[in-house]
Amino acid sequence: MIRVAVSGAAGRMGQTVCAAVEQAQDMELVARIDPALGVEVSAALGAQRPDVLVDFSIPATAVANIRAAVGGGVHVVVGTTGFDADEVRGLTGANVLIAPNFAIGAVLLMEFAARAATYMRSAEIIELHHDRKLDKPSGTAKRTAELMHAAAPDKAPPPIHSIRLPGLVAHEEVILGDVGQTLTIRHDSIDRESFMPGVLLAVRRVASLPQGLTIGLEHLL
Ligand code: NAP
Repeated sequence: MIRVAVSGAAGRMGQTVCAAVEQAQDMELVARIDPALGVEVSAALGAQRPDVLVDFSIPATAVANIRAAVGGGVHVVVGTTGFDADEVRGLTGANVLIAPNFAIGAVLLMEFAARAATYMRSAEIIELHHDRKLDKPSGTAKRTAELMHAAAPDKAPPPIHSIRLPGLVAHEEVILGDVGQTLTIRHDSIDRESFMPGVLLAVRRVASLPQGLTIGLEHLL
């Protein structure tokens, strides 16, 4: 059994992750960490000795949570966006997997967009999220732009447009343009369940990743 702690456990994603871990046959949920539950990271790590910490908290606290876990020899799966991954580069003692998007469709969108960027003249990204999302632009959109620019370094990175509205969950559209044509690639997460297979895969695999920091679910697929 993999012993799993979840930080941000009272949040929208955290609650969904806790339910998914509880339903997984090979995992045991050993701690729900969240200020709203009165449970703090260091105390929970010390008392419950998890194998893996899953962090879906807030940008202001993600780095401290990751450092606390790695310092205690606990592997970390990070879904939180809006912080600088360079701040947790070079940590030793346990592995860290950061995925700006755990939905397979979004991972494929990033891959297809990077490929299309090499052929088409220019592109722009529109990301649309619910109105309580703290960061802007989204981590997925920033990662998409990075991957597209890496695939086509001769072109400017695609600009990102952000939309925040009630009723949305997590959506992204990449529009590429060339002479007399456009290509649109779109992904929609219409339920937070869309992220759970990716999160559980990451929990199962984080211990066997190369040492240190890995960014992107694609490294597990
Ligand atoms: P949310 O509902 O605001 O949940 C965040 C939770 O973290 C809140 O309950 C918050 O408590 C709690 N928190 C604050 N400080 C903490 C600390 N020090 N330790 C532990 N928990 C703490 O947000 P969400 O919609 O679930 O999203 C969480 C993160 O996941 C965001 O960064 C979002 O962009 C990201 N996300 C990633 C993916 C992906 O696939 N990678 C998918 C969806 C969302 P308070 O309310 O008291 O501050």
